[in-house]
Amino acid sequence: MTDRRIELAGNLNMVEERIASACAAAGRKREEVTLIVVTKTYPASDVRLLHELGVRHVAENRDQEAAPKAAACADLNLTWHFVGQLQTNKVRSVVSYADVVQSVDRVKLVTSLSAAAVRDGREIGCLIQIALDAEEGARGDRGGIAADGIEQLASAVDGAPGLRLDGLMTVAPLAGPYAGRQRAAFERLMEFASSMRVGHPAANMVSAGMSADLEDAVAAGATHVRVGTSVLGVRPRLG
Ligand SMILES: *Cc1c(COP(=O)(O)O)cnc(C)c1O
Repeated sequence: MTDRRIELAGNLNMVEERIASACAAAGRKREEVTLIVVTKTYPASDVRLLHELGVRHVAENRDQEAAPKAAACADLNLTWHFVGQLQTNKVRSVVSYADVVQSVDRVKLVTSLSAAAVRDGREIGCLIQIALDAEEGARGDRGGIAADGIEQLASAVDGAPGLRLDGLMTVAPLAGPYAGRQRAAFERLMEFASSMRVGHPAANMVSAGMSADLEDAVAAGATHVRVGTSVLGVRPRLG
């Protein structure tokens, strides 16, 4: 094995142990939680190694970087998640490789994703991104909408050809009432997810938790955790 492969295998084992113990502590089955490895700033060669090591879900947050990386890994059976703020002029590109867009936060984006998905004959899974620190009717600094906007977006996705409403996503807020309270933030997200499922029963995916707080996310009930740093290492700059 190459040094990098050994390093990634060791890191993956540690993350796997963290997820497994968090599941055990929460009385959840390990299969209830899917690991998504966030590969932003790292090369396609790392994605390839991760695939060899059993990873099947990867995430990226910038189209300029993700598009060539996904193309270089097109032969691998990977599910690609897009988790970054998405401009409508990037939608056609993102739809060509992403299976799931986790950062849906405005109706204009839904319209644009739907048109691109139909054009490509693809079905794109959509998560609505919640910003727990956003004012009612507003959006968060790092994308996402305030919770009062969930239903409008959920209905828009439900009614949009080529799109599938999969659930909710959040990033633990750095400001506001939930700053530093990841567990409470993720529990709040779960409440929104339960309410949303009343009208949209198939939308059962809840994406929460990163390297620093995946245990809180698993304890709260997240179905997907998005881990970058703990698998790949500290990124050279904020990605
Ligand atoms: C970068 C990123 C992650 C991973 O963060 P780490 O702290 O490196 O694990 C998760 N979610 C989103 C939306 C990200 O942009």
